[in-house]
Amino acid sequence: MDLNPLGGGGRPPRIRDTPSGTLYVPVVAYARFGSDDSDVYVFLATSGHLECCACLLGDKWDFHTTDEMLGHLDEHRAAGHCVPQGCIDALVEDKAENDQWIARYDPAEERRKHDEANRRRKEIWKIAEQELGYVHPGPEKFDAPEYFAAWEQASQIYEERASS
Ligand SMILES: [Zn+2]
Repeated sequence: MDLNPLGGGGRPPRIRDTPSGTLYVPVVAYARFGSDDSDVYVFLATSGHLECCACLLGDKWDFHTTDEMLGHLDEHRAAGHCVPQGCIDALVEDKAENDQWIARYDPAEERRKHDEANRRRKEIWKIAEQELGYVHPGPEKFDAPEYFAAWEQASQIYEERASS
């Protein structure tokens, strides 16, 4: 199993606020695109849900019980998508633990925080691009130092304005 793709962490929630990020950071990835021919990217997210990231089937991507996610993955298979068996098996294996963890979160509240984080992120990138003249290097340069530098600088401007 592909544990903690972003490093560190473990099972407890780990909220990160990265240039491309939102509150929803994988804790455990169960399947990733292209790995074992997977057409799905499934993970347990820090903010208490199972996520079908960039889902090919539609707009619904957060699931709040393991069974709900398994039902969703059945739909993927019915649509001819590859869902690796290892993904299903691991979800079933972790079901009790994951469902218990997810139950501690309120979906509406998490969605509100997610929307707020997204709004903030967009504002910060607007400052970086329009005021600092930063040009986004593209997702493949996600870890470029200037990417984080621009983010830091723009965040500071954003926070100063927000608190004044
Ligand atoms: Zn999906």
